[in-house]
Amino acid sequence: MGPKAIGFFAHGHARQAGQVLRKKAIGVAFAVYKMIKSIQISLLTEETTLTASYTQAELFIEPGRVARLRATALQEALSPPSRTRVTMAAAVVEDSQENRRVIIGTSEPNGYLRPGVKSALQPGESVVPGYGHAEANIVAWATKNDDRVIAVAAGRPICENCVGAIEDAGALVPSPKKSQPRS
Ligand SMILES: [Zn+2]
Repeated sequence: MGPKAIGFFAHGHARQAGQVLRKKAIGVAFAVYKMIKSIQISLLTEETTLTASYTQAELFIEPGRVARLRATALQEALSPPSRTRVTMAAAVVEDSQENRRVIIGTSEPNGYLRPGVKSALQPGESVVPGYGHAEANIVAWATKNDDRVIAVAAGRPICENCVGAIEDAGALVPSPKKSQPRS
């Protein structure tokens, strides 16, 4: 075999190996895609089982999930124009008798709730006052009332300052965080 023939031979092999690798890569990518899809579907089914009500037990077993689902539900209760401007937050808090409940925060002045949001509140849920971010209002109010903050979620990505306040209070942040501070 001359050098030219070897060259062709090697090239052919490399190309074949490349095709095999590409096929493998496509196979792996497809498997990953299928896996992600099935996780998404199971998450969706899970999320839709708890949009409105929750049990006392769930406040202890899955406080982060309850907070996240309540915040999302209340955010969706806003009218579409308000939804991108107003932030709704929900938190699971615990009093000194170890009773847990959900409290709601809004970025609107002093706990103002629009009618659609008001009717989406569940029994026992109350709105905290305040003039800051929804999440910070919750932490400030709970701290003032000696309630332990367990988890605080919001319907929009949470700003750095609020993430700091929630984590300083020793609570979970079970919803997406924003990398830049909200203006
Ligand atoms: Zn904030």
